[in-house]
Amino acid sequence: MTQIPNILKKLEGTSVYSTLLSIESSYERIEAEQGDWYKKSNFNCPSGCGSCCHGFEPDILEGEALYMAAWLLENQEFTARKIAEGEFPFSHEDGTCRLFKSDSPFHCSIYGGRPFICRLFGASSFRSRTGEKVWRPCKFYPEDYLLKHNPPLQKRQYSESETEIVIGAVPPLMSDMTGDASSSSNGETFLIHEILPQMIQRLLWLIDMNDNGNDNPNGTPSPAAA
Ligand code: SF4
Repeated sequence: MTQIPNILKKLEGTSVYSTLLSIESSYERIEAEQGDWYKKSNFNCPSGCGSCCHGFEPDILEGEALYMAAWLLENQEFTARKIAEGEFPFSHEDGTCRLFKSDSPFHCSIYGGRPFICRLFGASSFRSRTGEKVWRPCKFYPEDYLLKHNPPLQKRQYSESETEIVIGAVPPLMSDMTGDASSSSNGETFLIHEILPQMIQRLLWLIDMNDNGNDNPNGTPSPAAA
């Protein structure tokens, strides 16, 4: 079920509509495949960790930023409008993502709208240089957490067959999960704080155009609006 029903309705017929559906469908696929991996492996991030957001701000595709903008407008409109003016809800001195909320259980203030990297971190596999599927336990997992696992996880990288043995399943392949979204854009990425304000402005402009009876806006706001 979509997390952005009202925004989708307001954007019907615009050029961003299919991008939003496509990104959401990739996110749903990640959730389903990771759900399967978590069930089979029974291996999760340590409760309340959030270390992967520290000192890090994701580089994201335009489509991911559009989805994030739509999710914010649907679920946190006041915050979305502030971000459109360049005012992010949090500021951290060490380069930590401006959407990171240290006192919340999930830490991410836009959990349902977070981008690919934040969904895949710690729960995905990738192809090594030789093309083999490999899995690395998240680099932030403490040594004692890995050693408490049965069997103890003593290596920092496992081949596909080793992962099956020690964990019971191989997590989804990162490139499979992001492939469709990457190929539908030119692959250029931007830091969240660089692109999110513009994307919220763009959606607000498109929504306004649709409300005013313009039935086929081309998705390219005027420079003043963008
Ligand atoms: S978007 Fe959310 S999960 Fe991703 S780095 Fe920012 S705060 Fe962390």
